[in-house]
Amino acid sequence: MESNSGRNGANQPEYGNESVKTGAPASTPIPSRAPGRKPDFNTLTKKLPEWILLEKLCDDLASFGTIHHLGTSFDSEYEFPLMGLSFGSKDPQAPTLGLFGGVHGLERIGAQVVLALLKSFSELILWDKMIQHALSQVRICFFPMVNPIGVLRQSRANPQGVDLMRNAPNHSSEKPTFLVGGQKISNRLPWFRGNIHNSLESESQALLDFCEQMFFQSRAAVTMDFHSGFGIMDRIWLPYAKSTAPFPHLAEAYAFKESFDRTYPNHIYKIEPQAKNYTTDGDLWDYAYDQFYARPKNKDSVYLPLCLEMGSWMWVKKNPLQLFSTLGPFNPLKPHRQKRILRRHIPLFDFLIRSVVSPEAWILKNPEQRAKFQMRALEHWYGKSS
Ligand SMILES: [Zn+2]
Repeated sequence: MESNSGRNGANQPEYGNESVKTGAPASTPIPSRAPGRKPDFNTLTKKLPEWILLEKLCDDLASFGTIHHLGTSFDSEYEFPLMGLSFGSKDPQAPTLGLFGGVHGLERIGAQVVLALLKSFSELILWDKMIQHALSQVRICFFPMVNPIGVLRQSRANPQGVDLMRNAPNHSSEKPTFLVGGQKISNRLPWFRGNIHNSLESESQALLDFCEQMFFQSRAAVTMDFHSGFGIMDRIWLPYAKSTAPFPHLAEAYAFKESFDRTYPNHIYKIEPQAKNYTTDGDLWDYAYDQFYARPKNKDSVYLPLCLEMGSWMWVKKNPLQLFSTLGPFNPLKPHRQKRILRRHIPLFDFLIRSVVSPEAWILKNPEQRAKFQMRALEHWYGKSS
């Protein structure tokens, strides 16, 4: 569902007016339908100030793009609409960039970074002729808080205890990493997959619906999903999560990496296949990628689903006491450090926009050129010479 709201918010999306398709796990009773209650302003200020910013940005940006009401997330106490924003070309084939955050509620820095980038974008769209011109050719979309109640309740999972990044109905052909790779035992344990045979969780469905609406007909698309909690450096992860085997667009991913390395030689990211670290079942981005290529018309299009895994261990190293708080292992807690993280990814955002405006830099049309990049990619990431 879409709605355009005015700057004064008079027509903002209403709360609690959508049916929810949740696949709640068998081990937990489905919470009774919530009364459609949004937390009051004081609660939001204390527990979810990111939501206040998101609503303000939706209001400010409504006349420049489209606000999408993608579904509803609820528990027994609260209910939130799932909100996406899109800007630019209405051509279904237009190259598209998508930024996603807050899939894992505990990793709230992910939602905060996407909101900070959206805030900068909300200013650029007012005066920057380069951005305005780019938007005549491409689409840029944001889904900053996929799991708002998870962020509010400081929980990795959604309100039904499901890890959204284990919730897709796809399976690894290999044995995924024990527990971390997704488990069906109980929603009281982390990495619970949910009832994948019934229907997706509303937040997962919203994410996939948004992808389908935004870029499933695009000739070039890049998505970046912002997470935190792994390692001491910022990593950009390539598919697959489900397999240690190279994914089909490894050559394009390597061309993308080389373009980034050449353009920003001092960038801070380690770019690598996720499965170099661990494998999982049910990854939503693996599923989106496979769904994209299940469409025969997309065989010559390129879609790169990327995840940014911010290296939270460096924040813990600088402030070990934060290990004793719930958010500590996943987020920068000192205000100056948080500010640093919020500005740290601006060059990446800049590069991502340019890479969808000029996808010729990494889309490999020539078979010989593609074979060359494939060989370099295999050598670089898999230590293979052919
Ligand atoms: Zn995460």
